[in-house]
Amino acid sequence: MGKLYIVATPIGNLEDITLRAIHILEKVDLIAAEDTRHTLKLLNHLGITKPLVSYHRHNEEIKTQALIEKLLEGQDIALVSDAGTPGICDPGEVVIKKCIENKIQIIPIPGSCAMINALIASGITTREFIFLGFLPLNKKLRKEKLSEIKSSEKTIILYEAPHKLMATLNDFKEILQERKMVLARELTKIHEEFIRGTIEEIIEKSENIKGEIVLIIEGNPKSDRNKSYEELPLEEHYQLYEEQGLEKKEIIKRIAKDRGTNKNEIYQKFIEK
Ligand code: SAM
Repeated sequence: MGKLYIVATPIGNLEDITLRAIHILEKVDLIAAEDTRHTLKLLNHLGITKPLVSYHRHNEEIKTQALIEKLLEGQDIALVSDAGTPGICDPGEVVIKKCIENKIQIIPIPGSCAMINALIASGITTREFIFLGFLPLNKKLRKEKLSEIKSSEKTIILYEAPHKLMATLNDFKEILQERKMVLARELTKIHEEFIRGTIEEIIEKSENIKGEIVLIIEGNPKSDRNKSYEELPLEEHYQLYEEQGLEKKEIIKRIAKDRGTNKNEIYQKFIEK
């Protein structure tokens, strides 16, 4: 049985490809590419000649069956997208699920990913984050996502197209007000740029901005979740953790953390009650 390699390719600078990725592209029987013309340019740059088949959003279902048959016959296949890591806002999911069903081995070959590079250089905490891809255009879904962004304590990462940037930033201004954010543009390319500031400042600095964009938004330091804990009666708060089977000491510790206070104060409140 063949293997499916999920190979990350550069997001701009062609030097951002690993030795392992090159080796895999050289040795597989076939490369499934989002846009064969785009991948051909990369292969020409690397001096690799290999049969290519197209595998993109609109033919993902149909092409999957043909790829699975080839894998079952014993051919090794590399899956690549136009840029970065396949499956991250790019095709990949369908064939990967089918490979799992057919017990075909899947091997990820790590490399560039725009959201990770934007995040690590943003200066906004990397400890916990949520990647939301592109914001939906559908009004209802968009509203839901914006409210998720508003309440999230975690750093938020989004992809955005330059012609939709202003509409998105204005939506942010309306719901997030003074939140800190970073606009990372043209990563690994000549015009790579990081614009840092409040949403208002980013709006001022990014008029007519072009190129590929990642947006990083600081998490809400006082999220709705925390607010609702504060509003919760102490007994109910205690019960919440008791039902999870936690010990008294641990429960008090967590309540104190949720309410932004110390353990002694919580003990004192219980004694008073
Ligand atoms: N699979 C890719 C990855 O691993 O990042 C993402 C593909 S998605 C279709 C394309 C979006 O990724 C762009 O619209 C942009 O938001 C982001 N992106 C890709 N390359 C970028 C770059 N060099 N600089 C900034 N953002 C980039």
